[in-house]
Amino acid sequence: MKVLVINCGSSSLKYQLIDSETEEVLAKGLCERIGIEGSMLTHQPAGMDKIKKELDMPDHTAAVQFVLEALTDPESGCIASLDEIDAIGHRIVHGGEKFSGSVILTDEVLEAITECNELAPLHNPANLIGIRSCSKLMPEVPQVGVFDTAFHQTMPAKAYLYGIPYEYYEKYKVRRYGFHGTSHDFVSARAAEILGRSRDDLKIIVCHLGNGASISAVDHGKCVDTSMGLTPLEGLIMGTRSGDIDPAIVDFIADKEGCTAKEVNTILNKKSGVLGLSRISSDFRDLAKASAEGNELAKTTLEAYAYRVAKYVGSYVAAMNGVDVIAFTAGVGENNAEVREMICRYFGYLGVTIEEEKNQVRGEEIILSTPDSAVTVMVVPTNEELAIARETVALV
Ligand code: ADP
Repeated sequence: MKVLVINCGSSSLKYQLIDSETEEVLAKGLCERIGIEGSMLTHQPAGMDKIKKELDMPDHTAAVQFVLEALTDPESGCIASLDEIDAIGHRIVHGGEKFSGSVILTDEVLEAITECNELAPLHNPANLIGIRSCSKLMPEVPQVGVFDTAFHQTMPAKAYLYGIPYEYYEKYKVRRYGFHGTSHDFVSARAAEILGRSRDDLKIIVCHLGNGASISAVDHGKCVDTSMGLTPLEGLIMGTRSGDIDPAIVDFIADKEGCTAKEVNTILNKKSGVLGLSRISSDFRDLAKASAEGNELAKTTLEAYAYRVAKYVGSYVAAMNGVDVIAFTAGVGENNAEVREMICRYFGYLGVTIEEEKNQVRGEEIILSTPDSAVTVMVVPTNEELAIARETVALV
């Protein structure tokens, strides 16, 4: 089967066409600045150069139309006609408490997703627009929704409830949901597979360290806790997000700076994290460079980042009463040896020992810990698109 995987943002659309039998990516690309002047399509067929085109994309339907044209283009395309697309898998950010797994997208399901919009006001409406655009252009092709939150729905109430009046949970569904679920699911399953073990027999901690970052505790195959909350702002220090802070800071800064709570929220999401702390960049490559050149604030930022990760890992060891595997994934987790080393330095109490040479590896599946390490530490590159394609095939 050929599955088109779509990840729709408010002004962007990422896509991959995947052959589900070989799990090969036939083509991938990105539409940027949808609805804004200067919209752009970047299309990359497998084994060929990227093609960049400035195209007029007033809305997402136009963007999907250009993607379909690129896929079927006689020169740079990879399929002869749209009939070759057997199914479409969509990444959907928030499924609230309604979705604990992937679903075939019907009118009824779309209505239920719309009801989750207020939990992810920037993301879910964009996801829905992507789905509706595909329905318009390919009404016969089955579509599947894969939710970022679904894998975390197994969290028990003691993990997902905040210590605030219960009525806010009852009235507004204010609770912890967690995100990056597709990645946490994929990486924990793959880690077990690499070790030749069943995930159902293991206690796994997945550290998804990308621009957005979250950690999950996967106990015998089920997620029992994760670091992101009602929104992706909670938890680790991220590229531009603060992660955990004292909630009173919002009011304090609003008072001092004469701005609204909403504006502080934007600062916490977009101008904080390692970017805000270091005053250099949200990109860990820039931070590593600055730190190596002796920039003290860059060094402190990396230390604060690693320390937060180590504290979360410690809390999940407590939550699961032990841990067998710690897996690093996503941009920083897969590629940044220095950060991994800084984090692993905290794991002496777990009996973790790392082989320094193996830790130099980038973007590859590898076991970093020594054979006699009490806990297996590994790098498992994530592949959310492939996970979405697999879910899609399983459902259609
Ligand atoms: P997103 O959450 O946007 O998907 P990614 O998972 O792509 O983010 O992670 C982005 C981060 O990964 C950036 O901070 C970047 O510095 C880091 N990263 C990506 N590639 C490398 C690399 N080769 N070496 C070091 N860091 C890298």
